[in-house]
Amino acid sequence: MEEGHPRVIVAGGSLGGLTAALHLRDAGCDVAVHERSRLPLEGRGAGIVLHPSSVRYLEADGTIRVEEVSTRADRLRYLNREGSVRHEEPCRYRFTSYYTLYQGLLGCLEPDRYHLGSAVVDFHPDADGVDVRLGDGSIEHADLLVFADGIHSTGRSTLLPEVKPRYAGYVGWRGTVLESDLDGEAFESLHQAIVYYVGPNTHVLTYPIPDFDGSVESGRRRINFVWYRNVAAGEEIDDLLTDRYGEKHDVSLGPGAVQEGYVASLFDAAESELPEAIAQTVVRSDAPFVQAVFDVEVPRMAFGRACLIGDAAFVIRPHAAAGTAKAAEDGYRLSEAVAASGGDVVRALERWEPGQLEVGRQVLERARDLGDRSQFLGTYRPPDPYLSFGLYRPGDSWMQESA
Ligand SMILES: Cc1cc2nc3c(=O)[nH]c(=O)nc-3n(C[C@H](O)[C@H](O)[C@H](O)COP(=O)(O)OP(=O)(O)OC[C@H]3O[C@@H](n4cnc5c(N)ncnc54)[C@H](O)[C@@H]3O)c2cc1C
Repeated sequence: MEEGHPRVIVAGGSLGGLTAALHLRDAGCDVAVHERSRLPLEGRGAGIVLHPSSVRYLEADGTIRVEEVSTRADRLRYLNREGSVRHEEPCRYRFTSYYTLYQGLLGCLEPDRYHLGSAVVDFHPDADGVDVRLGDGSIEHADLLVFADGIHSTGRSTLLPEVKPRYAGYVGWRGTVLESDLDGEAFESLHQAIVYYVGPNTHVLTYPIPDFDGSVESGRRRINFVWYRNVAAGEEIDDLLTDRYGEKHDVSLGPGAVQEGYVASLFDAAESELPEAIAQTVVRSDAPFVQAVFDVEVPRMAFGRACLIGDAAFVIRPHAAAGTAKAAEDGYRLSEAVAASGGDVVRALERWEPGQLEVGRQVLERARDLGDRSQFLGTYRPPDPYLSFGLYRPGDSWMQESA
């Protein structure tokens, strides 16, 4: 190792891996990212709720102006079943697409540091580093190995084989519709707001996101919905996650893959259970898709010269909208620790781990509580500031408007 310039391999080149790589590079590390996917990643056509941590790198670098690449909601609105407003209050949330963040971050990294079609398959620590075996059989040596390889992390299953994703008993149905495809009244009800409907053992929310071409002007955007519905473990969830070609998936099905019968029953349920404006976003959406909700909780994130970040460590239910922010924060804090320890990565990981474990645990617990209240306990009762999106605390996802 060159003194003070550790060589770092990052496994996984999505939002967590890219953010970690950029901060570590700027802290003086020699970084390489290995991403299993052969092609650049694409969003699944859904929105991401922004958090100041998710855009910290891009804003500081001057790569994006948040206002130009995101939409905003300044009203938080709860509807009654027949469509009238049950409660409304001001808010300052912003939303963007996965693709916008991914492309922005990727553009900040030198192309020769980002290796597509290159999975990390195995690793062996020794006295002065880690040998990392890649999918093509080659071996790279690193001082630090960062696993940012998501819910099915190779790093986690090797380092903590006893930790398994736990299905929460419900799924999030997601989809988007062009604002221009909504009736006037539905558009008025949804376009400047984050809008919720809370029903028995369910809740659904909508918010505006940029159109796929990046348009952020009102009327030319999309409305994104997320509808949480209970699906029993076992046969029921297994069948729902079997795509229309008969292939079984573990976590999610992308747009166009859900069996037609399930899409038809989703549309029927929307019409009979949801306020008209929200039902329209579901029924008129292009190709609704589904993600099963899981919890993953790790007792450790640092293992000598290897560590787990983002979804490789904690998978957080979506109710805190904090998954991307937490992944970004893990990477940022890691770079701070590496810089503070003068490039001694073992000491850096020791310094870094306690704080990140604490953030992960507290947000996991809160998101789990929110989900259980909504889906099973009947105690998800708006308005309540505790229900707000946030990473360190409810409500810290609010975005400041720049001058
Ligand atoms: C393609 C994609 C689209 C997404 N779209 C959305 C969205 O629209 N809305 C939303 O809210 N969230 C979305 N997410 C999830 C969200 O980005 C993450 O939950 C969050 O940002 C945490 O990111 P992460 O980097 O820790 O994990 P992930 O985003 O899950 O990334 C893990 C990455 O590691 C790669 N990988 C896995 N195993 C290996 C290995 N052995 N070697 C090398 N690479 C490996 C995977 O291909 C993946 O790119 C998406 C994730 C992905 C991968």
